[in-house]
Amino acid sequence: MSMKHSLVVPCYNEQDNIEPFLLAVKQAMNGYTDSYEVVFVNDGSTDRTRTVLRSVAEKYVDVRIKVIGFSRNFGKEAAMYAGLQESTGEYVTVIDADLQQPPETAVEMGRLLDAQPEIDMVAAVQKQRKESKRMVACKNAFYSLINKMTEIDVLADASDFRTLRRNVVEAILSLSEYHRFSKGLFAWVGFHTLSIPYTVCERRSGESKWNFMKLLRYALVGIMSYTETPLRLPVYLGGGLLALSLIGAIALLLCQLVAGLFVGFWWLADLLIFLASLILLSVGVQGMYLGKVHTQVKQRPIYIAKEKYTNETMDR
Ligand code: UDP
Ligand code: MG
Repeated sequence: MSMKHSLVVPCYNEQDNIEPFLLAVKQAMNGYTDSYEVVFVNDGSTDRTRTVLRSVAEKYVDVRIKVIGFSRNFGKEAAMYAGLQESTGEYVTVIDADLQQPPETAVEMGRLLDAQPEIDMVAAVQKQRKESKRMVACKNAFYSLINKMTEIDVLADASDFRTLRRNVVEAILSLSEYHRFSKGLFAWVGFHTLSIPYTVCERRSGESKWNFMKLLRYALVGIMSYTETPLRLPVYLGGGLLALSLIGAIALLLCQLVAGLFVGFWWLADLLIFLASLILLSVGVQGMYLGKVHTQVKQRPIYIAKEKYTNETMDR
């Protein structure tokens, strides 16, 4: 049976948050729709999350609850993918289990999709980040870097807290690449996205699973998944050095012809630059091929269609 609204909830060590989260969802959905389901993905939790999910699923028979338990911790990206795969809703919201993201906002996003058929996806953007100045600066630098280097436009300050229509869910699922960077995937698939502000709440219980190093690694996945520029850099550098060594050789030749000066040391230096440029160029050329392979193995669809009709199949 398909639902109107699915909530996909990645959970990693959230034992104390699951039940309060579900109660908050029930309250928020009350008055909006009965046709909703909650898809919990237990991402290999090491606390009592598994047991709690079981008992919550048993206790709240009035809510459709689906649980997928991973064999180990695969990360939030994998959990989101699994949750999207298992969801049946016409709308799907990805939301954290720690109540930092209010379920009321999910309902608000659902209402916006109800009211505005031309919108395909609503992204909730944090009004103000409760983070250190340094962290905010790092994140801003990251967003400007990825938006300059790649062809996609990543929404700054938007998390994975979004509500997608079914066609967007299918598009996201069609990107089955292993190294996933959802912020980029949401941008890459295109569609019409509306962003709305929301205020992040404090984590109800437990602690954040992110630290600076984890974020940095994630940021690198983001950049590497959307641009081959770093692989091509040696070509530019090698080309520059090649030009430099040629100019150097001409200058040294002139010295010799005009002034009769032969400086062996400078000739040697010039030769070294020339050789280094050849090495860099060949590394860069390999990088360019590798980039093509990298793009191909991701097996992204060549295009994503939003609609298709003939004048015979149109609803009039
Ligand atoms: N999460 C997950 N797998 C992980 C890490 C986190 O499923 O390996 C879940 C976590 O349970 C939470 C959400 O992803 O529901 C966001 O994680 P967290 O609250 O730690 O991130 P933050 O809100 O601090 O960015
Ligand atoms: Mg959190």
